[in-house]
Amino acid sequence: MTTNSGTKRRPVIVQKYGGSSLATAEHIQNVAKRIQARKDEGVDVIVVVSAMGDSTDDLIDLSQAVTGGQIPDAREMDTLLSTGELVSSTLMAMALKAHGYDAISLSGIQAGIKTDMVHGSARIADIKTERLHSELDKGRIVIVAGFQGLAESGDITTLGRGGSDTTAVALAIAAEAERCEIYTDVDGIYTTDPRLTSKARKLSEIGFQEMLEMAVLGAKMNPRSIELGAVYNMPVYVASSFSNEPGTLIHGGEHTMEVRKAVTGIAVDRNVGKITVRGVIDRPGVAAGLLQPLADAGVSVDVIVQNASSDGTTDFTFTVDEVNVEKASEVIGRDSKVEYAEIVTGSGLAKVSVVGTGMENTPGYAARMFSTLAEVGVNIDMITTSEIRITAIIGRDQVQNAVQALHDAFELEKTE
Ligand code: ASP
Ligand code: MG
Repeated sequence: MTTNSGTKRRPVIVQKYGGSSLATAEHIQNVAKRIQARKDEGVDVIVVVSAMGDSTDDLIDLSQAVTGGQIPDAREMDTLLSTGELVSSTLMAMALKAHGYDAISLSGIQAGIKTDMVHGSARIADIKTERLHSELDKGRIVIVAGFQGLAESGDITTLGRGGSDTTAVALAIAAEAERCEIYTDVDGIYTTDPRLTSKARKLSEIGFQEMLEMAVLGAKMNPRSIELGAVYNMPVYVASSFSNEPGTLIHGGEHTMEVRKAVTGIAVDRNVGKITVRGVIDRPGVAAGLLQPLADAGVSVDVIVQNASSDGTTDFTFTVDEVNVEKASEVIGRDSKVEYAEIVTGSGLAKVSVVGTGMENTPGYAARMFSTLAEVGVNIDMITTSEIRITAIIGRDQVQNAVQALHDAFELEKTE
């Protein structure tokens, strides 16, 4: 990504507002006031907007209706979907002007966003910031339509569902913003899913790597945007657009604002299924022979365990998204050359992970996690770890029990 340096500029802030924050004309007026307040602080403001409410879904429904359910042409689809964000960005610019603020809307193309040619899930290749900076230099608030860009072919592309977060972080990086602020209908990142324990606490900060592990937590942030933030070290602040409550800062620096705790949060994935391939001959190439056909079929595999054997055969167990259990077992049965005795499938599982960079290279956390689960009678099916995460696969009916016990054991309700 090219960045613009040299000339001395005012600090730039990028804000992004999600569809639920822009659902009606009244919502747009309210968000306009929030943007004005930020501008009044003397910073240059770039705003990225999603489409209003469910309008992207409505456009998809329309495309289905006119094609009689056939898959619509990818190029036309991207141009169609890009219109949702054009509606919200132009309305936002009008609202700001009506309040006496100078503002201009820019489509993704006008904002200089270049992508690859993958319709429906394009990646940003480059951002040419000349237009953005020239508008900011005129004192204007720049409203950019999220989720879209221009491919080399000259056609409009979209970045995939939820892609406006990625637009916002990418623009923040290209415009050398101080930070990217994502305003949404959740008010920040919590230690765990608040529906599982009333002791869940909003974090004032979290590291990028931890956030990527926690991303399944309903924080509704697009993981691609967090990866981008991590690579370019662009701080991302997540907060509610409906209140002035402080949100959560996702950043790559040291945790200085809060006294560091080893464990930051507990991530939960409730839709886990399991495949066990029994009686596999234990020799090189077996894991690849089982997993490659799944990769080719687009089934992603998560936790993998291979048991040692005494009789020269082994059991190979892995988890997949619960919806993919049948497909995974079919694909192996059909496409894998590996010989085995039988395939056993299981569902109704969940993944509970204790996450925190503070656990890195520090022994004892795994033991604490497992003894806590044992004390409340939670049986562990599989275990896997990374440097900053310890994961247990357990029965889905035990999730609440497990999360409450772990939240207490690691004292996550306390700030230090
Ligand atoms: N409007 C698009 C969607 O609904 C992009 C976004 O909201 O970020 O997926
Ligand atoms: Mg949306």
